[in-house]
Amino acid sequence: MTKGTLFIISAPSGTGKSSLIRAFLKKKIINNVEVSVSHTTRSIRPGELDGKDYYFISIKKFKIMVKKNKFIEYAKVFNHYYGTSYTSIINKLISGKDVFLDIDWQGAQQIKKKVINSKSIFLLPPSKKELISRLKKRNQDSNFIISKRMKMVKTEISRFHKYDYIIINDDFNTSLLNIKYIILSQRLSVEYQKKHNVDLIQNLLKK
Ligand code: GDP
Ligand code: ADP
Ligand code: 5GP
Repeated sequence: MTKGTLFIISAPSGTGKSSLIRAFLKKKIINNVEVSVSHTTRSIRPGELDGKDYYFISIKKFKIMVKKNKFIEYAKVFNHYYGTSYTSIINKLISGKDVFLDIDWQGAQQIKKKVINSKSIFLLPPSKKELISRLKKRNQDSNFIISKRMKMVKTEISRFHKYDYIIINDDFNTSLLNIKYIILSQRLSVEYQKKHNVDLIQNLLKK
C-alpha cells in the first residue's frame, strides 16, 4: 500500500513549475516531500544535470523502456518523449513521502486513471505578456523553440478544469505558500489520516 500522495504540477512552459518545485524543496517548506526525476529524449540544457533534472536518454532506450512497461505514464511533448518511471516514485510513496511530478496534461490524465493517490495542481501565469517574458528571461531556448512552446499554451491551458487546484503564479513566495497549503490540507484529509494514524485510531476505538 502506498501512503504518500503524488502532487502533479502542470503549466504552460515558462510559468514557473520547475523553479517553484526546486525552491520548495530547497527551503524545506514541508518535510517528507521529494520530486520525481523524469526520463526525457530532449537534449540537455546548459546548467542541467543528468540524473538530477532528468535522465537524458536516447529515443531507442526510451522505446525499450516503454516496451518493458517501465513508465507509469509517458507522453510526447514538443516533439520529445517524457516519462515518469515506476522506480522514480514507488519507494518514496511506500515510505510515506509525498512526491512532486512536473508533468504535462497528457501525463496527468494517465496518472489520474491509475489507482495511485494523486492531487493535481495547474499553474497559470499572471498574463500572456509575463509568460513570454519569463520564457525569454530563462534564456535557455532558441526563439524558434520559444515560439513553438507559445503555440502550445492555449492547448495546455484549455485542460485546466481537469485539475484539482489552480495557483496563479504571480508572486513567487505566495505561490510557495499556496503549494504548502494544498499539501497540508491533503495531509489532514480523512483519506490520508486513515493510513498514517491507523494505530491511534484503532486504539481509540477499542473497548
Ligand atoms: P519546462 O518545464 O516547460 O521548462 O520544460 P521541460 O522540458 O522540463 O518539460 C517539457 C514538458 O514535458 C512539460 O510540459 C513537462 O510538464 C513535461 N514533462 C516533464 N516530465 C514529464 C514526465 O515525466 N511525464 C510527462 N508526461 N510529462 C513530463
Ligand atoms: P517552467 O518549469 O514552468 O517551464 P521555470 O521554472 O523554468 O518554468 O520558470 C521560467 C522563468 O520564470 C524562470 O526564469 C523563473 O525564474 C521565472 N519565474 C518563475 N516564477 C516566477 C514568478 N512568480 N515571478 C517572476 N518570475 C518567475
Ligand atoms: P522542458 O523540456 O522545458 O524541461 O519540459 C517541457 C514540458 O515537459 C513541461 O511541461 C514538463 O512539465 C513536461 N514534462 C517533463 N517531464 C515529463 C514527464 O516525465 N512526463 C510528462 N508527461 N511530461 C513531462
